[in-house]
Amino acid sequence: MKTHYVLIAALALTACAMPPVPPAPEASVDEEPIDIGILWVEYSAEYQAITAQVYADALEDLPRLLADTSFSALPGQTDAADKPAAIILDVDETVVSNAEYQETLRYAPYTRFGHFDWMRNNRAVPIRGANALIEAAKAAGVEVFFLTNRACERFEGIDGDCPYEQVTIDDLREVGIETDADRLLMAWEQPGWSKEKRHRRDYIGQTHRVIGLYGDDYGDFVHCTRAKPLDPCTEPATRASRHAALDTYADYWGNGWYILPNPMHGSWTSVR
Ligand SMILES: [Mg+2]
Repeated sequence: MKTHYVLIAALALTACAMPPVPPAPEASVDEEPIDIGILWVEYSAEYQAITAQVYADALEDLPRLLADTSFSALPGQTDAADKPAAIILDVDETVVSNAEYQETLRYAPYTRFGHFDWMRNNRAVPIRGANALIEAAKAAGVEVFFLTNRACERFEGIDGDCPYEQVTIDDLREVGIETDADRLLMAWEQPGWSKEKRHRRDYIGQTHRVIGLYGDDYGDFVHCTRAKPLDPCTEPATRASRHAALDTYADYWGNGWYILPNPMHGSWTSVR
């Protein structure tokens, strides 16, 4: 009898020590798991805190960079002291989050029309901190340009030569930012405006002293960052060439250049 009680007690102890068994995941044969980078952008407070931090630093620096007329955030721009000041922001992952769209790529591959179609049918999601910087810049008389690789192109069944321009203006309005076609520079909107953003930065630099660049991709700051070289680049970028540029432009990071995190996509994925 005594032995019997000991056995029951031992079994009870064993049962208590067993970790709880998690429920089996719901079976799904036709879905890839969501990329952890997408989950991080969409759900983590850490992501939100980083973008808030980046834009807070940018906001704090703005008066100094505006007052110092010898400063330009465009390397090589040296004749701009008398030009009106401007800042240049990328759009996707810089002022508008694409995380929800990125999730859909589990079901269908990326296409430029697919991205356009998602954005025109869904409310844009803001990036924390961007609006405060943009409002402060406007209040200080700084011109605000948006330079995006969303492309100016026709889509079958859609009116207009450049339907993504108005959709982008609408997206920005949905996150609380007013702009217009003159301040939104799309890829291929003019001859030579490829996805290499250098020409469009230089275009703005012809009329303005650029005091801030804000983006999530190295190409929002540095030219020749892609595996496929586009004018004025002649060589494919490599991981080594991109890292060398960190030293070349070391003075700009956190001093006119402000980069947002993006673990979901970017030109870095194209290089080896
Ligand atoms: Mg972007």
